[in-house]
Amino acid sequence: MEAARTPQSPATSPLGIPAVDIVDVKHVYPPRRPSRKAKTQSTSTEPVTALKGLSLQVNDAEIFGILGPNGSGKSTLFQIISTLLHPSGGTVRVAGYDILSQAQLVRQQLGVVFQSPSLDVKLTAMENLIHHGHLYGMSGSTLKQAALDALKAVTLSDRANDFVETFSGGMKRRVEIAKAMLHQPRLLLLDEPSTGLDPAARRDIWQHLTRLRNDLGITILMTTHLMDEAEKCDRLAIVHKGELVAVDTPDHLKQQIGGDVIQIDSDSCQSLAADMKQLYPEHPINVIDGRLLMECEDGPTQVARIATEFGNRIKRIAVGQPTLEDVFMHLTGDKLGDA
Ligand code: ADP
Ligand code: MG
Repeated sequence: MEAARTPQSPATSPLGIPAVDIVDVKHVYPPRRPSRKAKTQSTSTEPVTALKGLSLQVNDAEIFGILGPNGSGKSTLFQIISTLLHPSGGTVRVAGYDILSQAQLVRQQLGVVFQSPSLDVKLTAMENLIHHGHLYGMSGSTLKQAALDALKAVTLSDRANDFVETFSGGMKRRVEIAKAMLHQPRLLLLDEPSTGLDPAARRDIWQHLTRLRNDLGITILMTTHLMDEAEKCDRLAIVHKGELVAVDTPDHLKQQIGGDVIQIDSDSCQSLAADMKQLYPEHPINVIDGRLLMECEDGPTQVARIATEFGNRIKRIAVGQPTLEDVFMHLTGDKLGDA
């Protein structure tokens, strides 16, 4: 079994080529045509700039997350990397192959798991894989063996001949992953893999993804708007409104905040925040989802001081380590907004 690579020393392929190399990618969607059916649906007569010149590199055998709130451009980038959408500008290379001029070679390197389900639930797991293999030009005993191997990789060998409609949400997602692994790609692309799954199923999917990376050296690139999912990636790109805000390990990103985050529940968060800013002009103070957050270096000392000064306006005060939500807020002034 190959040892997990530490994110601090990311490895490139033997040729020194990044698994994915994204350089200055822009994308502008043309104006949407008004739909005749849904008269009330909002339609834009303006073009939408989804990506504003984004660059990043993903190394071999790392689990790389693209973290951003809904609408930040993650799925647009996902579709560009998977060769389904031509970018308005910039270049993307997968294992050294250009997504525009070498799309076929790029697709051979990629296994793709879309956010929306793509399984036929009236077929068995095995039948779903066989159908998919035919689309890839695979057949016969080679295909059968590849399907068995892919189901084994997500520990579904014993359910191969069961109908997918009898599977839990997490098991269905694992069949999706098996499907994406069928042609033995080097890179697995997943759009929001945990969305819609319960916590146990999320943990299970993660165990499988980590195993694919550790045992087979697969590079995993996923998009997510979920903090707990982002937390588990080796490295993260934080995106906001089509722009890259930061790239680093989750720990390094959190260290940017340098200290603690004090959380306060109050009936009058906004006015309390205004008064606290007088006392702490140098500390970032924000109100998110009706909760006041202040970054500071010596949390416990400041909690005592705040309690003395503002105790009668505080329902609850706590001090904790910064989360990726705090990092996102710190970097963008916006909230990540876990759905
Ligand atoms: P995310 O996956 O981070 O939620 P998307 O890439 O789906 O973000 O969307 C980025 C922006 O592009 C949003 O403003 C979204 O409304 C817009 N957008 C996405 N798809 C289309 C499309 N097909 N046509 C026009 N605008 C789109
Ligand atoms: Mg999306």
